[in-house]
Amino acid sequence: MQELTHWINGQHVKGTSGRFADVMNPATGEVQARVPLATKAELDAAVADAAKAQPAWGATNPQKRGRVMMAMVGLINRDMDKLAEALSREHGKTIPDAKGDVQRGLEVIEYCIGAAEMLKGDFTDAAGPGIDMYSMRQPLGVAAGITPFNFPAMIPLWKMGPALSCGNAFILKPSERDPTVPLMLAELFKEAGLPDGILQVINGDKDSVDAILDNETVQAIGFVGSTPIAEYIYGRGCSNGKRVQCFGGAKNHMIIMPDADLDQAADALIGAGYGAAGERCMAISVAVPVGKETADRLIEKLVPRIEKLKVGPYTAGNDVDYGPVVTAAAKENILKLVESGVEQGAKLVVDGRGFNLQGYENGYFVGPHLFDDVTTDMDIYKKEIFGPVLCTLRAETYEEALGYAMDHEYGNGTAIFTRDGDTARNFASRINVGMVGINVPIPVPLAYHTFGGWKKSGFGDLNQHGPDAFRFYTRTKTVTSRWPSGLKEGGEFHFKAMD
Ligand code: NAD
Repeated sequence: MQELTHWINGQHVKGTSGRFADVMNPATGEVQARVPLATKAELDAAVADAAKAQPAWGATNPQKRGRVMMAMVGLINRDMDKLAEALSREHGKTIPDAKGDVQRGLEVIEYCIGAAEMLKGDFTDAAGPGIDMYSMRQPLGVAAGITPFNFPAMIPLWKMGPALSCGNAFILKPSERDPTVPLMLAELFKEAGLPDGILQVINGDKDSVDAILDNETVQAIGFVGSTPIAEYIYGRGCSNGKRVQCFGGAKNHMIIMPDADLDQAADALIGAGYGAAGERCMAISVAVPVGKETADRLIEKLVPRIEKLKVGPYTAGNDVDYGPVVTAAAKENILKLVESGVEQGAKLVVDGRGFNLQGYENGYFVGPHLFDDVTTDMDIYKKEIFGPVLCTLRAETYEEALGYAMDHEYGNGTAIFTRDGDTARNFASRINVGMVGINVPIPVPLAYHTFGGWKKSGFGDLNQHGPDAFRFYTRTKTVTSRWPSGLKEGGEFHFKAMD
């Protein structure tokens, strides 16, 4: 049995708590490793070492920090296959999808090569008589990130890249379900030239998260995961005086207008609904066709496509569209919600409940499901299922469809399929959701824009990556300066305008 470690001060360090979590192979249901769960003392010691290392890193020229990012890009590309394999083995997603996970994180590291541009500050010459004024962005000190299981490369990289290139030390607490890739990324950062102690990977569960929340040295926390935990971390982190941004769960609606290309919409729904077994925060989980004819034709087109989906282990290569879900508990929860949908009156058009994969009977595979005639009071509509289950909620009009997406408590992503520019523009302008696709089902913004949901999908006022990340991981200091030659008057007792 492989025993995983923490990554502290540039090396692998065994856990001392005596507590471990099993890391499963979701395709077989076997335990493949165990990961140590850190104590508060281990976390606090790692933070203290990071705080000692940070001032020198923070004082390093930003372009030199950028060179570490540049080297990191080369190393991730070099190890792409190894990273993807390790990711698929613990998460279960297919190899091409695992490579996408690494790639979308890598793109944020590429963006961070130019951090010097983002950090260069503002200057006003002659803001008053003999007075100059300038603002600079300084690192916060030690920042921390707490990340979910479903993108074990992308989301840690989204956090590490900006936090480190801004000159902070960074503590990562990855998901205990798939901790290997974050540890591999930490090794690569060392090889790329990152000084020891600047990036610490502390494995753990609620105990280590609480230790981060209560540690006085940690200045900022970036969280991604489910909404109840996001709310908890946001509340406790903020009340402890930290800067906190938390990104939570989702229920992403895709509106299909009567003028849409229905083959294109059906293909989009298949990829966005069932890809990665539906375990994406940007997965489409609700299709909202407008008009009875659109709905009937859409279902007709979806069913044969869903029936053709190939479900299997990542080792089957290109023969597989999606793999198992992450744990037995996740599978149980998905199937329980499917039962509730049937009991509450939704029509199960494609029933994946009996799905069984020969040779992998203990794996956490879930067959694809399609519901029609879903209503807003059903649990399958209200809750995030996070599995290969697509719900169809029929609407009579565009306004009704828009209202469903607007009224749902989550607001992460959404999409509209239409050929009508006016409708698309109206939708993009009015919808209260953070990321919007127009004939694009999964509108994940690229590294130089920002990523973040609204309503119960996001807490805090700055998004991930893009320019927002450089604001989140720095604080602004503004200096007003006058040299002796500019001092012409005696003492001043009133609050002076710069005239
Ligand atoms: P999760 O909330 O269970 O876990 C996320 C992190 O919180 C992990 O590191 C975990 O160890 C920690 N954690 C879990 N329980 C905790 C507790 N009681 N106290 C303190 N910390 C705790 O989420 P998950 O199952 O790993 O990930 C799936 C969820 O993440 C879904 O809801 C998905 O929508 C969401 N997600 C959101 C985004 C986004 O950008 N909005 C992106 C990816 C995933």
